[in-house]
Amino acid sequence: MTEPVTHISFDLIGAAIILLALLLAATGLVLLTSWYWKRRRARPSTFMVEQLEALLDNLPLGLLLTDREGQVLWCNPEACQLLSLDRASPRLDEGLVSLVKRVAESRQSELHELQLAADVRLQLRAMPLDGPSPPDDEVMCMVTDVSGRRHQEEFYRSFIQNISHELLTPLAAIAGHVANIKECSIEEVESWRYSQDTIEREVRRLTGLTSNLLLLSRLESGVPLRLESTNIGVVVEEAVAGLLRVAQAKGIELSIQSPPRLPRTRADRHRIKQVFINLLDNAVKYCPEGSEVQVRLETDGESIIVEVADDGPGIPPEDLPHIFEKMYRVEKESTRAVEGSGLGLSIVKRIVELHGGRIAVESTVGKGTTFRVKLPLAEASPS
Ligand code: ADP
Repeated sequence: MTEPVTHISFDLIGAAIILLALLLAATGLVLLTSWYWKRRRARPSTFMVEQLEALLDNLPLGLLLTDREGQVLWCNPEACQLLSLDRASPRLDEGLVSLVKRVAESRQSELHELQLAADVRLQLRAMPLDGPSPPDDEVMCMVTDVSGRRHQEEFYRSFIQNISHELLTPLAAIAGHVANIKECSIEEVESWRYSQDTIEREVRRLTGLTSNLLLLSRLESGVPLRLESTNIGVVVEEAVAGLLRVAQAKGIELSIQSPPRLPRTRADRHRIKQVFINLLDNAVKYCPEGSEVQVRLETDGESIIVEVADDGPGIPPEDLPHIFEKMYRVEKESTRAVEGSGLGLSIVKRIVELHGGRIAVESTVGKGTTFRVKLPLAEASPS
């Protein structure tokens, strides 16, 4: 009697075990599948987070995230560097903490400028970010270094001012003398001639300024050089010959000292001649009557060195670091009266550097000035 019961119960237990095993297997499969899909879904998002982190870490823009109390939650290396923060435990100074609190409170973005040193200026934009509830609100700050931009803006402002001044002065003189010519009677020959000479001089000055500006802009926009094997000695002779008449008129002695044979360089003849014309023109322009201007050529085996030396008024030490800047002129009694736009030496420097060379200047007030141009020899110069 008991056997069938045992059999039935065995069948029941067996079925229950099988059912349980099937249930466990199904649950396991579901768990495994969901784990697998989670992994599959998680993998790209982890990858994306890593990519995003790498991007933020290398961004040339400072970024930092704070809570509403100004505690830094995260910051990228650029922000740490700009604000001198320790990335392991970054802390904002009082001023920035109160800016963050203000932004979190008002829910309004704010732009703030920080002058860290005489030449370091930062711009900081703080923006509120909504959290799930107000205590979780965060503030994102973007930090940019605007020192360079400010410098550039100031440079262009003063450049435009100088250009306008340099254009308006001759234009005003021309306008005045044109009016004078119109009013002159035919008998007033002297006055008429004077106005005509002035107009001619001012037109020459305007033309010089415009062509220098054009040349500088061409050089800066990367117009290619026409490099060819060049005998710098010949180029210097041509430049000296071009200035001889003006020098003689002022009683200035122009001379060249050069070894009989000099190695050749690769240069754009036309451009490099402009270098020596500008240096010689300055020497003749700024030196008083009876001065001496020497051009000395030599080689050190790697470069050709050309010195243009005069015994003129010299350049004050405080002006020396600036004379190659665009439109910089020395405000000195002895040189202010001399016509010029302050572009000649910027052109010289640009051309020399385009040839892979260097220019230096030495000067003593009352004793004279020497410009030293170093140009690489043919094998070493850029092709
Ligand atoms: P500029 O058109 O005024 O001559 P440059 O750029 O050629 O412009 O020169 C810049 C300034 O450097 C000049 O205004 C002048 O004061 C000074 N300078 C250049 N060369 C000499 C020199 N040989 N002797 C004295 N001062 C010089």
